[in-house]
Amino acid sequence: VYTRTPLIAGNWKMHMDHFQAVSLVQKLSWTLTDHDHDFDKVQVAVFPPFTDLRSVQTLTMADKLELTYGAQDVSQFDAGAYTGDISGDFLKKLACTYVLIGHSERRSIHQESDDVVAAKLQAALRHDLTPILCVGEGLETRQAGQHVDFTLQQLRTALQDVDAAAVAELVIAYEPVWAIGTGEVAGPADAQEMGAAIRQELAALYDTETAQAIRVLYGGSVKADNVAAIMRERDIDGVLVGGASLDDEEFANIVRFEH
Ligand code: PEP
Repeated sequence: VYTRTPLIAGNWKMHMDHFQAVSLVQKLSWTLTDHDHDFDKVQVAVFPPFTDLRSVQTLTMADKLELTYGAQDVSQFDAGAYTGDISGDFLKKLACTYVLIGHSERRSIHQESDDVVAAKLQAALRHDLTPILCVGEGLETRQAGQHVDFTLQQLRTALQDVDAAAVAELVIAYEPVWAIGTGEVAGPADAQEMGAAIRQELAALYDTETAQAIRVLYGGSVKADNVAAIMRERDIDGVLVGGASLDDEEFANIVRFEH
């Protein structure tokens, strides 16, 4: 029994052009529909590259798919001379539900600081997109035993200007950097440790009720054969899946973690 509706999210990263995106969404939807998947019970979202979003929108609308989708990033600005950036306004107009904020690959490859992440979070909220805020430590921080402090500091900085009403809309993804795309999975106990620490911090920053309502996902080399153990943890409400979300059968099996 879940107090919060589980969310299974697939981050495609820079994979799948718009032809492949349509094919993957169709196959995924067919598989889930064949198994009578209840989308109200376990929500499903995919995060294709920007160039796929229009195709995914058209397909989900035409076939009335219950699958939701979002973007992998958003500009902190709404419009203007920001070559290459994508406004939250554009994403909302493409009927995106979610947007990933501060994914570790944005932080490391594009040098996104905690302050930029905070500004992007505000941009998402301004445009009524549900942010999935990604936080998590690198290997050295973990080995030094500083992972909880580090991750909570990222969380506090991102939430610096977010009030209680807005924070209730948020999803938080704990993604230890050393477990992303490496095949290295944090144990369910590690995921739970951070899930509980994040919730405790949210209760301190806001209040217990708000903290209890916010979904905390785990991400890092999640696959069909390890998802169930992670989902059994009390403070983990879903998973953010990278590599394993590119295969329709594997991802469908992750979505169907209870079976
Ligand atoms: C991710 O991209 O957020 C992720 C967790 O990737 P992977 O599942 O491939 O480790």
